[in-house]
Amino acid sequence: MQSPPSHPRVVVVGAGFGGMQTAQSLAKSGAEVLLIDRNNYNTFVPLLYQVAAAQIEPESIAYPLRTVLRHANRTQFMLAEVQRVDFDHQLVETDNAVVSYDYLVLSTGSQTQFMGVPGAADYGFPLRTLDQAVTLRNHILHRFEQAVREPDPMRRRQLLTFVIVGGGPTGVEMAGTLVELKKSLRCDYPGLNWQDMQIVLVQSGDNLLTNLPARLGRYTARKLSKLGVTLYFNVRVGQVTDSTVELSDGCSLAAGTVIWAAGLEAAMPEAVVAPQTARKQKLKVRSTLQLTDYANVYAIGDVAAGESNGIPLTGVAPEALQQGVAVAHNIRRQLLGKSPKPFSYLNKGRLAIIGGYGGVGKIGPILLTGFLPWLMWLSVHLVYLPGFRNRLMVLLNWLHGYGRGDRAIRLILSPQPAVKRPVLTTNRPLTVES
Ligand SMILES: Cc1cc2nc3c(=O)[nH]c(=O)nc-3n(C[C@H](O)[C@H](O)[C@H](O)COP(=O)(O)OP(=O)(O)OC[C@H]3O[C@@H](n4cnc5c(N)ncnc54)[C@H](O)[C@@H]3O)c2cc1C
Repeated sequence: MQSPPSHPRVVVVGAGFGGMQTAQSLAKSGAEVLLIDRNNYNTFVPLLYQVAAAQIEPESIAYPLRTVLRHANRTQFMLAEVQRVDFDHQLVETDNAVVSYDYLVLSTGSQTQFMGVPGAADYGFPLRTLDQAVTLRNHILHRFEQAVREPDPMRRRQLLTFVIVGGGPTGVEMAGTLVELKKSLRCDYPGLNWQDMQIVLVQSGDNLLTNLPARLGRYTARKLSKLGVTLYFNVRVGQVTDSTVELSDGCSLAAGTVIWAAGLEAAMPEAVVAPQTARKQKLKVRSTLQLTDYANVYAIGDVAAGESNGIPLTGVAPEALQQGVAVAHNIRRQLLGKSPKPFSYLNKGRLAIIGGYGGVGKIGPILLTGFLPWLMWLSVHLVYLPGFRNRLMVLLNWLHGYGRGDRAIRLILSPQPAVKRPVLTTNRPLTVES
């Protein structure tokens, strides 16, 4: 175990939108801050779908955490997987150390929820991490290579059928970007019959983008239909196999790729004494974002069932960012012997991108559809993307991609090869340093 710190120690678990913001905002608090993440980079999650669809490079949406913290006072980063939290003894157990804390901020985000659908976790592709986006990209591009050499027309059509499960922002974005990918791959595969490529979106409700006003959902459905996406409403996926998607109405879709965008749940590490949870395993928090049972533990972002003025939060990046600032403020207050203040979310509006130069948005009472919200979505995400180099790379890719209707990225990367062990040529024992 590490020796006790001379300053109060704040441990922040998870360096996504919420955690990274908390660590940065705590820099001048006088506390010793330790930010822990299983990756040494921050992932800009909203652009994952563009990585998956070969639109931008994975590196351009990842930002090194040590670079973020370079100028942050008394703030350190630890690369570790948090395995267990002991709230009563104020300990965080990781895969390489046990760390004590005075204050703890849980910001571990969310993970894909397969809702117990048989085969979904085995054959469906989730889209929540950078690794998953690269895996999906490899798979999608591989399907075209398989299809182009497949003589059987039925099998070829199946290889080129992409079923997206879930009609929220991620499902809509994926459907739209696959339409764009289809256009840009035409020149590369002149031998393919493009009628064979089917993009299907399955939604359990009767509209898309249910977090936005219904009119925007209906516009989105019309736009996707025009782009050639087949929409199934009011139907659930009952089973996924290696070659089909079985629907609750008895229909079976032959598919080469199933993208699972149907739900998320809190990604909370194990706890010695389980904290109170709400819907989707999210941690119950007070209005101040403290856990209901522990005044020195905060939970923010997707892992928490946060509210603002009694209204549940929906799980978007600006909420996590604003909560990060609020938690840093509240911990500072606690350090000064003051009581924490309730969190209040300032909603600046919601935007969603569809594809085909179309998007939707709600800014205050104003509803937007078409090119303007599409452009606003891209601009806002470019501004919030961490790192000048990343912004430049993404902008160049967009100018090339949207301007010329082409995509430069075509790499099918094999999974990371295992490190080769040295071949011993003598009988001397090999000394291993740890
Ligand atoms: C595909 C997709 C698209 C989205 N698009 C948008 C969008 O366009 N606009 C928008 O506002 N929101 C969007 N969202 C929602 C938004 O990304 C989340 O609300 C936001 O990321 C939540 O921030 P967070 O800090 O709670 O979690 P995250 O940003 O996910 O960060 C969690 C961090 O915790 C780390 N972690 C988790 N468990 C452990 C552990 N046990 N040990 C160590 N580290 C751990 C992870 O590595 C990660 O870095 C999207 C979400 C998805 C999945």
